Amino acid sequence: MARPAQTIDEQDLERALLRKSVDTLADRRDLCADCNRTPLIGESLHRYAGGVTVCELCSPLRRGEPVESERVRHSEFGLTVRVHRA
Ligand SMILES: [Zn+2]
Repeated sequence: MARPAQTIDEQDLERALLRKSVDTLADRRDLCADCNRTPLIGESLHRYAGGVTVCELCSPLRRGEPVESERVRHSEFGLTVRVHRA
């Protein structure tokens, strides 16, 4: 006996596509290991030994100096077109 074709509602499709894109964005972002917050653009991220990443607000609560610090940039940073004048 053949199974009926599975149909998908338009709203279900929209929800599935939105969830997929949000999950993709969430995979690429940094989270603070202490407060679990996503740092804002322009905020500093501090990396400590062992690969622990901490936000600017939680960094003073840690002992020791970070191995490296970097500024949080917009997701399109480096993808913009630059005009080069000769
Ligand atoms: Zn934090």
